[in-house]
Amino acid sequence: MTTATASRTLRIVLIKPSKYDDEGYVIRHWKGTLPSNTLAALMGLTQDAQERQVLGSDVAVEIEMWDETVHRIRPDRIMKRGKREGMIDLVCLVGVQTNQYPRASDLAKQFAGLGAKVMLGGFHVSGTIEMIGMTPEIQELIDLGVTIVCGEVEEHWDELLQAALEERLEPTYNFVDDKPDLFEKPIPLMPKRYRNRFTFNHMATIDTSRGCPFNCSFCTIINVQGRKMRWRSPDWIAKKVRENWALGVTHYFFVDDNLARNKSWEQIFDRLIELRESEGIHLTFMMQVDLLSHTIPNFVEKARRAGCTQVFLGMESLNPANLADSGKNQNKISDYKVLIDKYRAHEIATHCGYIIGFDGDTYDSVISHDLLQLMNEVQPDQASFFMMTPLPGSADHKRWTREGRPMDKDFNRYDSFHAAMPHPRMTAEQWTQAYRDAWKTFYNFENMKGILQRSQDRNYFNIMKNFIWYKNALIEGEHPMITGFFRRKARLERRPTFPIESRWTYTRRRTREVGHILKEWVKLYWEMQELWLATWPQRDQRVQLAKQHIVRWRDIGRNFVTLRWHRSLPQFFMRVALTGRERLLGKSQDAIDAVRRQAVYSRRTLNRHWRQTLHWFGTLRWHRIDVGQTLVNLYREVKVNLWFLAHIIKSKAFDATGRMG
Ligand code: SF4
Repeated sequence: MTTATASRTLRIVLIKPSKYDDEGYVIRHWKGTLPSNTLAALMGLTQDAQERQVLGSDVAVEIEMWDETVHRIRPDRIMKRGKREGMIDLVCLVGVQTNQYPRASDLAKQFAGLGAKVMLGGFHVSGTIEMIGMTPEIQELIDLGVTIVCGEVEEHWDELLQAALEERLEPTYNFVDDKPDLFEKPIPLMPKRYRNRFTFNHMATIDTSRGCPFNCSFCTIINVQGRKMRWRSPDWIAKKVRENWALGVTHYFFVDDNLARNKSWEQIFDRLIELRESEGIHLTFMMQVDLLSHTIPNFVEKARRAGCTQVFLGMESLNPANLADSGKNQNKISDYKVLIDKYRAHEIATHCGYIIGFDGDTYDSVISHDLLQLMNEVQPDQASFFMMTPLPGSADHKRWTREGRPMDKDFNRYDSFHAAMPHPRMTAEQWTQAYRDAWKTFYNFENMKGILQRSQDRNYFNIMKNFIWYKNALIEGEHPMITGFFRRKARLERRPTFPIESRWTYTRRRTREVGHILKEWVKLYWEMQELWLATWPQRDQRVQLAKQHIVRWRDIGRNFVTLRWHRSLPQFFMRVALTGRERLLGKSQDAIDAVRRQAVYSRRTLNRHWRQTLHWFGTLRWHRIDVGQTLVNLYREVKVNLWFLAHIIKSKAFDATGRMG
């Protein structure tokens, strides 16, 4: 049904809201890093409903998809654009997490005020109503005519759309106890124009299953999606992967909270192996699993063959008392190293999630003990740190509410990088400092260098790419899971509790912020280049050979100068003989090339020279500038930068292609 011939039109506007920063501005980036799977899942469902004409053949359905982390949402413009007589607008605020609730709530009020039907769903409303019942902030929206949807909508989407069209939406729908069978439900749909808003635009997401059988007390997933696993058809997944491959999707984030407990993991991996080995579809993927996954027969081996390059592990703590208190009994600290080594042996990079702020934590226990153990003994390739947060929908939140434990009233701060409740053994400042220091310590130069030296070629650039992503998040002052590249702000897009700044104040602030970001990016670029120089060229066998050449000639020279001719002469003849042998083997020219190309192994001397030169320049002592050395260093600078960039581009690390699989 085309819009022109339809008697009625339902315009469905799917929006994934962002959150406010500490200064009240909406967090949005020029390029995002993680697309929203919930938004993609709703897009898949809505398009399927449109194709099946569930609203009747005389109704046209228009679908819009907005992700506020990368799109600016202007309710008045969205509502005005393309508005026609008889058109009904349904605005769906989807996948709203607790820290996004204040922003989602403000958007809901604006859209409702403009006459749209508004539905709001996601973990916050589902978890809250399921665990503690109706709360004032949710009731406030219902009173304004917003429909609250709890749970998963796969079995009910058609009826919700029908109700919206007929303007008979109810105030609340609760599907938490009516969990859908996902087996043949539409797979999340991520159109190219949406993916293009993200740095890794060859990446899409799929939740191959939902639920988790474990019982961690801080987790909201089990109380909303349940502890009984439900999963999608492996054949449907393979079909979608094949279709998406043709559209340029080469990398997936399987967002299941625990793919290892998906009962059909083996069939899914088998289908992916078949795609790789029979059809040349060399996709790669990352997944989240529990810490017993390495004990499942064939799991790690098949994950590797299926294209897994990275695994996210909910390690949470290195303190056994913390794990016991939170019911995370499946995590055995003594097994952490075995687990990491097993994935590493199969060339799968490991990424651990670590929570700071369990009742047993102190600043010293985290920074001076647990973190060092994590870096020096367990040795994951990456770590993400989170502050313990009393998320509505978790057993902890329910218990603390019952006990009357004070919790922050502002849900915007429930983002895992703010102290949203008092801690029994740390002040809010100490706790926040422990969190910040954990990031800085783990991502210090020496630890990153050690990680890259341990990594396999297959994962080297993926890990480096993630270092850049995470270090950029530290520059932006945000958590990597919500950050992107280059923060965008709009002066008028501010939380209602903050004043709108004057143009002058705002421009000054933005100029300062942008200047700071650009300066920090330059530093990050040099740091990554130094890291690369210290780790990547060493892998090249030709460079090793070239180094041997240098060392041998240097030894001969040293012995000759110190009159130890009895040593240098035999060395010289040995050297000539070896060179002759290498020439015969065709290696000598390679080695010489390598020496020529790879003369710089560190930026230290270059940096020292530029600092000194700038100093002479700035203090007007230009006669002291060594012009000859400056020209030589300029040449070396150009060479090393081109060399670095060529490797990064060649690695395709930034388009997340399957090349490295
Ligand atoms: S293992 Fe992860 S998903 Fe499962 S209950 Fe624990 S925190 Fe939740």
